[in-house]
Amino acid sequence: MASEKPKANQQREAECKRPLRALPSIDACLKIAARDDRLRNLSRDYLKKLARGAQDEFRTALVSGAIKVETASKQMLGEIVQRMLSLAQADEPKLRTVVNATGVVLHTNLGRALLAETAIEAAATAARSAINLEYDLDSGGRGDRDNLVESELRELTGAEAATIVNNNAAAVLLTLNTLAAGREVVVSRGELIEIGGSFRLPDVMAHSGARLKEVGTTNRTHRRDYEQAIGPETALLLKVHPSNYRIIGFTHEVSLPELVAIGRARGVEVIEDLGAGALIDLSLYGLPHEPMVRERIAAGAGIVTFSGDKLLGGPQAGIVVGRRELIEQLRANPLKRALRCDKLTLAALEATLRLHLRGAIADALPTLRMLGRSAGEIEMVAARGRDILRERLATEFQLDIVDAYSEIGSGSLPTVQLKTRAIRITHPTMTAGSLAAMFRHARPPVIGRIREGAFFLDLRTIEDPAALAVDFVGNTIGFARP
Ligand SMILES: *Cc1c(COP(=O)(O)O)cnc(C)c1O
Repeated sequence: MASEKPKANQQREAECKRPLRALPSIDACLKIAARDDRLRNLSRDYLKKLARGAQDEFRTALVSGAIKVETASKQMLGEIVQRMLSLAQADEPKLRTVVNATGVVLHTNLGRALLAETAIEAAATAARSAINLEYDLDSGGRGDRDNLVESELRELTGAEAATIVNNNAAAVLLTLNTLAAGREVVVSRGELIEIGGSFRLPDVMAHSGARLKEVGTTNRTHRRDYEQAIGPETALLLKVHPSNYRIIGFTHEVSLPELVAIGRARGVEVIEDLGAGALIDLSLYGLPHEPMVRERIAAGAGIVTFSGDKLLGGPQAGIVVGRRELIEQLRANPLKRALRCDKLTLAALEATLRLHLRGAIADALPTLRMLGRSAGEIEMVAARGRDILRERLATEFQLDIVDAYSEIGSGSLPTVQLKTRAIRITHPTMTAGSLAAMFRHARPPVIGRIREGAFFLDLRTIEDPAALAVDFVGNTIGFARP
């Protein structure tokens, strides 16, 4: 009898341990995790903690009999992978890759210009190592970050000097504040623009400390309007490129050369906010001519400002070029320090400008590549893209390749419509809006456009049809083929 009790105990202990041994080890869980690409951004320690937590729960469930020994191992592995995946998903950065199927080449909300490979490399290098951002390698003394791109900009625009700030809005603000604070700036009513809701010329002017003096009417402004407006308080005549709209019909504007003549006669400087600011002649690429910075400098503008991430095809930046004496004044303004751009931008900008000077930009600059694609080239991508989507969507989804027009975007050449080919997607019960939502929730998200009640994917902005090999599974709307 004496040996009975310990025996029973041993048996009970063995019975309890057996099921626990049925559970996979932490190592086994980690091995599975290591094989899954989607879990790469979670640390080993984090995954370990997760696996331990699950193991504890499953132990309790086993001992209480809530789950069966035979299936416990499989269940636990499945559960752990599921948890890890949902954590990895929750851990995903907010800024994500999306597929731009809008056909809008310079889409402000999708980040405007895609950078050339050399510009991407330059930014990565600047991020990774110390650089001579403000260090003169010849003298060993302090350098100026503007010098990194000034000679390229001089060569490309014919201007005497250049300075770089964060974006074109900052460029306009800095120019007006430096040259006209407390005084008047004469602008035509037809050029008091608003861009994308956040850049309104009168507001920027007010914040610069300069006073706006509107002349002319919305559709017509004459030489005499400017002449009559100039007085002792006048600091500048400002011309603004009406980027995102055109006034057509009964119109008259005073051209830049005329304005320069008026300014010279009265001793007043003329400056221009050119917006997109082409550095090259777009008509060489089958596009309509957009005013070039070089032409505006040659026509006598004292200063021209433009964006780095519009037709230039570079990073977000505000570029100011013009007469040295004026640029020096801008550089001396404390606002310049507040508006200066960072090393990654400057690195990418320098590489982009070099491409403009010496590279085969038609191939190297994504912006130009996309603008220059013919409907025929786009058709091939559209056909392949449709096949890829066909494999992923139930048969009720109808996919047709149709003619369409794409826009350049960012207020560049607003009246220009580029012939393109698009995939029109329809469904017997889903609206265009719900189709757009379904594509937005794909992984990665696909951004198309809705026109005349239908949902379209414009392939102008997709170079590789494999971009449409997206995952609709897990989509809460769940329209994918099972
Ligand atoms: C786009 C644009 C701006 C604003 O430029 P950002 O680089 O976006 O700040 C200002 N003026 C004109 C005429 C523009 O076209």
